[in-house]
Amino acid sequence: MHPYYPAPWRGIEGNFETLPKAFDSKHQKPNNSARILIADDEPRARASLKEILRFTGYETTLAENGSEAIELLNSRNFDLILLDLNMPDLHGHKVMEHIDNFSLNCDIIVISGETTFDHATMALRNGAQDFLRKPYSPDELLRSVSNALERRQLKAENHSIQLRLEESESLHKFIVNNSPDMIYLLDQEGRFAFINERVKSLLGYSQGEVIGEHFSKFIHTDDMERAQFTFNERRAGERATRSTELKLCSKRNGGTRFFESRAVPIELSSIGIYTTNGDKTKSFIGTYGVARDITERKQAEELIKYQLYHDLLTNLPNRSLFRDRLNMAMAQSKRSGKKLAVMYLDMDRFKIINDSLGHFVGDELLKLVGQRLRSELREADTLARVGGDEFNLLVPEINDIQDARNLAEKILRLTCEPFIIKNEEIFISFSIGISIYPSDGDTKDMLIKNADIAMYKVKNAGKNGYAFYSEKMKTHFSQSLDIENGLRKAISTNELCLYYQPQFDINSGSIKGVEALVRWQHPEKGTIQPSEFISVAEESGLIIPLGEWVLRKACMDIKRWMKEESITLSLSVNISMQQLEMDQFVSKALKIIKRHELPKDSLELEITEHAIMQDMDKAIDALTRFSHKGIRIAIDDFGTGYSSLGYLQHLPINTLKIDRSFVQSIKTSEDNSIIDAIITMAKGLGLNLIAEGVENQTQIEHLSKAGCGLAQGFFFSHPVPENELLEFIKDLRNVDNNEKPESSIAGDSDSPSI
Ligand code: C2E
Ligand code: MG
Ligand code: MG
Repeated sequence: MHPYYPAPWRGIEGNFETLPKAFDSKHQKPNNSARILIADDEPRARASLKEILRFTGYETTLAENGSEAIELLNSRNFDLILLDLNMPDLHGHKVMEHIDNFSLNCDIIVISGETTFDHATMALRNGAQDFLRKPYSPDELLRSVSNALERRQLKAENHSIQLRLEESESLHKFIVNNSPDMIYLLDQEGRFAFINERVKSLLGYSQGEVIGEHFSKFIHTDDMERAQFTFNERRAGERATRSTELKLCSKRNGGTRFFESRAVPIELSSIGIYTTNGDKTKSFIGTYGVARDITERKQAEELIKYQLYHDLLTNLPNRSLFRDRLNMAMAQSKRSGKKLAVMYLDMDRFKIINDSLGHFVGDELLKLVGQRLRSELREADTLARVGGDEFNLLVPEINDIQDARNLAEKILRLTCEPFIIKNEEIFISFSIGISIYPSDGDTKDMLIKNADIAMYKVKNAGKNGYAFYSEKMKTHFSQSLDIENGLRKAISTNELCLYYQPQFDINSGSIKGVEALVRWQHPEKGTIQPSEFISVAEESGLIIPLGEWVLRKACMDIKRWMKEESITLSLSVNISMQQLEMDQFVSKALKIIKRHELPKDSLELEITEHAIMQDMDKAIDALTRFSHKGIRIAIDDFGTGYSSLGYLQHLPINTLKIDRSFVQSIKTSEDNSIIDAIITMAKGLGLNLIAEGVENQTQIEHLSKAGCGLAQGFFFSHPVPENELLEFIKDLRNVDNNEKPESSIAGDSDSPSI
């Protein structure tokens, strides 16, 4: 081994302390925390190296020979080894071999007295960064160390950049494939050049099944046109990112899913860089896009939209949708010059079905009615449920009102067939009002309102039928004022008169009582029915004097019959809610009864269910006052109100008068569920029952079988003037006297009611 001498700083001018500075300025230390190992068997050489490096700020570790160097290399990390070659125990080349064999990350500078070219090349080939020949100048040493460390640092930085790049690339790949969205690339032809793995979980296709295929293969036909437009727009160089909602076909069970696709065209610039900014000088090479699955949002939106526009019980359109469609149909009619019809369908007696048979049956019935009607209508017709038991039907483009007539008749035919629910047959009927565009109104509100007016007309005329709206119905309303003035006069000039309709005991055939029904003998118009003027009287307050007159006259008549004809009958008088609301009504009525010396319980006041429902609390209050005075109360037209049957328990009532619409629905002896329910319920509540509007023998038979004992109706007698009633009773008495000794006529001991 060559002696290594002298002190390295020898020959350098100036103060020893200045040395590091001079070195510092020349040799920027890339890393003074570098871990440097010095391996030299020559103690002075080691010391000298250590000193030079220490002045420059490097800390070093010393190894006295090759074996110690290897030991240290194995136990710690070194950045650099300054390695002597010629060492007695282990040659420097062996140390280098070890470093190589064990891939130790340590750079090597050989500092050797072996000056031959071969040694130098071998050292460099074995991985040394530099080869310094002893003796070396400190400057030379430091430059070499500095270069080696700088290179090392650069290499480390490069390595870390590389690592970061690789990491970023795999992260990128991870992000693309694990994106919750589908990320895709279409080529110029619209074929998939790339799609991430997400396609598998969203649409069920593998990437391989999609790549190379044209996008149209995956677009649902509903949205094909929109998709073509969107992707072709890209080709035309549209710049902005375009967001489109598309329905895509899933591989699973032919299902579909909704996506929001944001696509942007990719272009290749002249220098071969991909861009997305749509410069016309660049060539379009495809479309880059991200498609987000919005199926759930879409479904929620659709559900909300559906709920906004549909009735969820029947799944029919609701009022809003009906009005929209009507608007559209009117615009269409305006263009085509064709008519359209609006029908207002109201189910008769629905409330009673609902209350007597339960809400489940009521709901089922509405569903079945909706289904039956819908299945018989044209595609273009809109049937909507607009209220509890109310339906609106829009019939666009009719040639003639005869078409509407035919359809209304068809609906009545369809709905009179029984509906089967829980093995029970349920019979219903409808009242239908019809208005025609443009003759009955040129706005949707007017058409609906007029159809509604026509429907009410049907209800008043006995339900189960249809009517076209007519101007007369409107004039009827405008005539109210004339009626009011005329009626005011009629009360004072005695143009009113009373008709009486007898009430019979079905089983014995005897007359039990009479109902007083007012008529207006108009000097010009002849007899006017109460349906023409009672509502006007109620609205104008004239019902108070009118009602008083009716009560007084009826009591007077009855009293006379008792006196002159020996006939005792119970008397039913209709009253309106307005009368009940009047404070003195109870006392006035009682006074009238007293004056005519009538037994209190011979008078029954009838009030309609509908009137009671208008203000239940008031009705309970007034009726209670009557009943405390011993006057009997009957609920008239029972079953037509829209109330719950529970209210009956709160009212002081004696009798239920079953509305004639129920009686008229008795056509066969099986058709009985509702009326039977009413009868059973009334009996349960201990109420008397009387059936109104009895017109034939079948009805009598059924009522009798079901347990309803009393009836009135055209079958027995129409309402008749007083003299005719007396004749009728006398005739009956004669018949009874001749044929039936147990006749029910007054004076007969077996019939206490007359
Ligand atoms: P209401 O009290 O239910 O009277 C029964 C109505 O049914 C009567 O009509 C009667 O003519 C009719 N009717 C009776 N039997 C049959 C039948 O077998 N078939 C058919 N289709 N109809 C039958 P009217 O006399 O026209 O009375 C109509 C309504 O006017 C009455 O219905 C009652 O609510 C009201 N009304 C009559 N008179 C008065 C009154 O003095 N005061 C008040 N407030 N209302 C009255
Ligand atoms: Mg009545
Ligand atoms: Mg009635």
